[in-house]
Amino acid sequence: MSDLDDLIGSLQSDLQKSGSGPTQEGKSCPVCTRVVLGRRVDALGDSYHEECFKCNTCAKILGTTEFYHEGKTPFCDECFRTSRLTKCADCDEWITGKYLEAMNQKYHPEHFRCVTCKGGFVDNSFFPKNNRAYCAKCINSA
Ligand SMILES: [Zn+2]
Ligand SMILES: [Zn+2]
Ligand SMILES: [Zn+2]
Ligand SMILES: [Zn+2]
Repeated sequence: MSDLDDLIGSLQSDLQKSGSGPTQEGKSCPVCTRVVLGRRVDALGDSYHEECFKCNTCAKILGTTEFYHEGKTPFCDECFRTSRLTKCADCDEWITGKYLEAMNQKYHPEHFRCVTCKGGFVDNSFFPKNNRAYCAKCINSA
């Protein structure tokens, strides 16, 4: 079956060609609008020049490092945390996922608990005092 062997051979060389060939035409960087050739960052549904993909706040080049984004606007880890996130009022760590807001403060849901006994709240009812939350037992001695 030499015919089949020929087919396989040509298919392979086609694949190799498209793999190492020039970047797809028409993909232009949304930042500088020039076509992206060479090193690029594929992110947020677009292709960017590596040096164009940077934090919207401090202009640090993000390259292929981890980043946050709001819509199509990228931010570096630090800027996103300081400008968009708040710290948990209990553990003082940044809240990146779910949070619970009470008494004008934000908490990790698992950190919203009685400040005295560190217990959870029965029936989700808590007693606020001086911007702190107490359970039914502890509010009396607070
Ligand atoms: Zn660019
Ligand atoms: Zn930044
Ligand atoms: Zn916390
Ligand atoms: Zn308590």
